[in-house]
Amino acid sequence: MGFDEMDVDTIWMDGEFVDWDEAQVHVLTHGLHYGSGVFEGARCYDTAEGPAIFRWEEHLERLFQSAKPYEMDIDYTKEELTEATKELIQRQDLESCYIRPVAFYGYNSLGVSPKDCPTRTAIAVWPWGAYLGEEALEEGIEVMISSWRKHASSQIPTNAKTTGLYVNSMLAGEEARRNGFAEAIVLNKEGNVAEGPGENIFLVRDGELHTPGLSESILDGITRDTVIEIAEDLGYTVHDNVSISRGELNTADELFFTGSAAEVTPIRKVDNVVIGDGSRGPVTEEIQQKFFEVVERETDEYDEWFEYV
Ligand code: PMP
Repeated sequence: MGFDEMDVDTIWMDGEFVDWDEAQVHVLTHGLHYGSGVFEGARCYDTAEGPAIFRWEEHLERLFQSAKPYEMDIDYTKEELTEATKELIQRQDLESCYIRPVAFYGYNSLGVSPKDCPTRTAIAVWPWGAYLGEEALEEGIEVMISSWRKHASSQIPTNAKTTGLYVNSMLAGEEARRNGFAEAIVLNKEGNVAEGPGENIFLVRDGELHTPGLSESILDGITRDTVIEIAEDLGYTVHDNVSISRGELNTADELFFTGSAAEVTPIRKVDNVVIGDGSRGPVTEEIQQKFFEVVERETDEYDEWFEYV
């Protein structure tokens, strides 16, 4: 669904609430040419206590951390960005939504050096259902191992959520969809499993969970962290600092993706290989159920993870 079909009308931009159609930048914006922006993607869930933003503090923290290697000063405090976000959700009467903060080098000159360009900051919110579709959450998805490799962390900080990085995600995802798959798995430069274009990946083997460590050139996903904590609290052993070879995907009992957009999405097939019995596995189901129970606040556990609007 395109933005024009959505009931949203306001964006926060550089300290002000502006009409959706007026949230514009100049075509010579540095970030547009060189991908010099950092961003976040968080979700606000509909709960009995009203809209509640899941792990907002961690998302804001990652936004500021992402800006660091690019020497980008975000001109607003975390408190100001929080107030702006809450007001955006309130003003547009949204019960649940996706939240997209972005900071980028703006318009002034187009040398690669951004030092004379201002930092622009914006936040948009809009309704966004299951990223890979409702059916994906239940049935699982078929994924393709991309022929594109992920950037190595020696080439670009892969733990920063930088706009420019996502052309790699776009290539991998579109290649997969062109070939009839829902999403891609991207290997790192060494040929081990890194992550999805916009998701971290977990493997279940003999009742234990495995997920690539941060040195595998992955984004330090907040849902990854959430799932590790939930799984451990459910009594599972989680190996979160491992290398996973491509072949281990084929022999996994279960596989699933995690992400703020993708939430917890089972993977039922990788290329031509059926994973487990080809449906959502029992461990994935238990963790997924718990995840939704938590984010929809059907339990009062982990209340510290929520910023109520
Ligand atoms: N890896 C990549 C490349 C991503 O874009 C995302 C989505 N932000 C993730 C992993 C998952 O991160 P999170 O759980 O924080 O959304």
